[in-house]
Amino acid sequence: MDIEKSQDSQGNASSDVDTAEQLSYTNNQSDAILDINEYAAKTSIPLYVIPPSSNCYQSSITKFDHVMSLCAIAARHNISDTLLKDIVGLIQMHLPEQNIGVTDINELKGACGFEKDYLKYHTYCENCKKIFEDHLDECQTPNCDGKKSDNLCKKYFITSNLGMQIKEIIQRKEIWDALCDFIDHHDRSSIADVRSGSGYKELQKEGGFLDSNRNITLSMFIDGVPLFKSSGVSMWPVYFIINEIPPKERFLKKNMLLWGIWQGTGKPKMTMFLTPLVTDLLMLHNDGVNIVKNGTSYLVKAKLIIVTMDLQARAYVTNMTQHNGEFSCLYCTASGKVVKSGAGNCRTFPFKDYDKRTDDMIKEASLTASQTGKRYHGFFGESILSCLPYFSLSKNIVIDYMHGTLLGVTKKFLDMWFDSKYKDTPHYIGDRVKVLDNLMKAICPPYLVHRSPRVLSNTYSHWKASELRNWLLFYSVPLLKGILPEVYLKHYACLVEGTYILLSEGIANQDLNRADLLLKLFVQNMENLYGEETLSLNIHNLTHSVDIVQQWGPLWGYSCFPFESFNGEIKQSVHGTGNVCRQIFWSFQAQKRLAQLSSSMPDCMSKDFIQSLEIRKRQSSRTEAYQCWIIKFSNNTSGFKQDILAKIEKEIGNADFSTASKIVRNGYTMYTKNSKKVKQQNSYTIKLNNRDIYALETEHFIVQNDAERKVFAVGTALVKTGSTLEGTVPHLIQVTRRFVYI
Ligand SMILES: [Zn+2]
Ligand SMILES: [Zn+2]
Repeated sequence: MDIEKSQDSQGNASSDVDTAEQLSYTNNQSDAILDINEYAAKTSIPLYVIPPSSNCYQSSITKFDHVMSLCAIAARHNISDTLLKDIVGLIQMHLPEQNIGVTDINELKGACGFEKDYLKYHTYCENCKKIFEDHLDECQTPNCDGKKSDNLCKKYFITSNLGMQIKEIIQRKEIWDALCDFIDHHDRSSIADVRSGSGYKELQKEGGFLDSNRNITLSMFIDGVPLFKSSGVSMWPVYFIINEIPPKERFLKKNMLLWGIWQGTGKPKMTMFLTPLVTDLLMLHNDGVNIVKNGTSYLVKAKLIIVTMDLQARAYVTNMTQHNGEFSCLYCTASGKVVKSGAGNCRTFPFKDYDKRTDDMIKEASLTASQTGKRYHGFFGESILSCLPYFSLSKNIVIDYMHGTLLGVTKKFLDMWFDSKYKDTPHYIGDRVKVLDNLMKAICPPYLVHRSPRVLSNTYSHWKASELRNWLLFYSVPLLKGILPEVYLKHYACLVEGTYILLSEGIANQDLNRADLLLKLFVQNMENLYGEETLSLNIHNLTHSVDIVQQWGPLWGYSCFPFESFNGEIKQSVHGTGNVCRQIFWSFQAQKRLAQLSSSMPDCMSKDFIQSLEIRKRQSSRTEAYQCWIIKFSNNTSGFKQDILAKIEKEIGNADFSTASKIVRNGYTMYTKNSKKVKQQNSYTIKLNNRDIYALETEHFIVQNDAERKVFAVGTALVKTGSTLEGTVPHLIQVTRRFVYI
């Protein structure tokens, strides 16, 4: 199976170590049963003895390293102050009494903390949801008697200084170098990234915002994170990424900006919450920040070019009706119509060529609405984002495929196939679910796919977005073949192939046209196959996807995927006590400070420690070889059949070779079929650039024992025998095992 490369670009760290750790943990557990008294007797001796010349004894760790290592632990695991205090106590217990270790948590965290004016608390009036002015106690809204001093439950939200964060990130050597490198060589023909979309290229034209300077562009993500299901309390973080940072680095926490967090019951009033944001963004766009690099000072300005959110948040931010309201499409003038659905009604958007909304139309609609106080063409009034003069609601707000295509459309299809509610329809296949479950259990994805496939029965409604992605792109079509009636499968395959194209890293023009055709065909045929009530806004949005990709690059560049894990962290940290929002800001800030620090620190134990926390991965020793690294030798030189041995000798010229079981090439780890690691994961099948042989199931890596150290893979050749579905989904192919190949 070809691996979707973009997963890696989203900054997913390899899961390889987690599993190794789990393994060793289970091993230790089995012999952990022992007599505690016996153990106490055996181990009741001092942990260390300081020699008589104790006043000459020096620790190998400095106070600075001690503080930074503790900050690194606290930031990496987002731990509460209480836990940090306990860890500090534990360390103190192990140290000689006279030591200069820091025991005050505030002092400790302060080392990686905020500069003055970094965080800003905005207190707001509960009655009218307006921010109180700094020096006044009374609310300034006419006829509102709200008072700051009456604000007993302290309604506030926190924002941070974007300029300082940008500075801290792009002043780091590796980021600055990558940035300059990119700015000096930007010429791409296919659509490979945000930066090769037409919207971005427009800014690079002569006299444009990105023409011959060091300016940067930002993408913004906003999403609600429910905290306690029953209480309705949620948190709304607002994140930014810098598009000029290479994709592999772009989505890492240390390179991301956290602008603000609102916490409360329900949802924030966007005109209030995002007002300080607009002020900050205007400042970044007009005045910029000063970066000093190698003695030269550069003025760097920033422009917001992309905003991603789910449909619900989008309605709040744009000041529009929700997805089931009339004229709820942001991109065109489809009003939709109300039809019967089950016991109730729903809004559908029949397939048609609708007129696009222009900036002028949006402006007029929102103005009319705010003047009349009535909803007009979907708008309740002006959006707070239109206070940014350069910002276009219909161009700069994009569709998030994670919420739309995966959690929306893909999940809906699972329902329509497997939910007994649909048992009288021709597309219901719930009675075949056991067959599919067995097939799902047999799938061995490569290690880049972190989750093993789950069975469908009783679980698909809980699938995470990444599981839905793997199902949509890779598992569903081959599994459903012969189970889902062909006309339905062919229709669904249009969605699969269309989405696959829009997620690839180099989309040529003809691919883009094909994706457009496929997705429109898909939407067009929905009514006939599944009924007109299924044409929801999520489905309708598919007809706008290609436009968006053409402007802003592949879907992965602005999906909410990278933020899912941060939102998970936020949920976890809420269980701690104290000021949760401040803690989250601290953890974000500390990551940046530590990244900057560890890249300039001299080699030492604590630097290794801090970096190991940062990259979430133990560094294994490795040997350099020709165009790759050898991670594990396997000492399995004997035992080759005579004919294979002859082949190897012919290939490498002699019989002097070693064997290896794990190598890394181009950043991808590859194993041999018999290594323990690959029991549940197929990370031994390597796709080849070869006309006749599609891929190789590796049995051995042969390493030439000479200075060059060329590495050969020996294994079974997989030869393409046909397509999964003729004429579509070309990334899913059928193969058969043929012969031994080197
Ligand atoms: Zn008020
Ligand atoms: Zn539309």
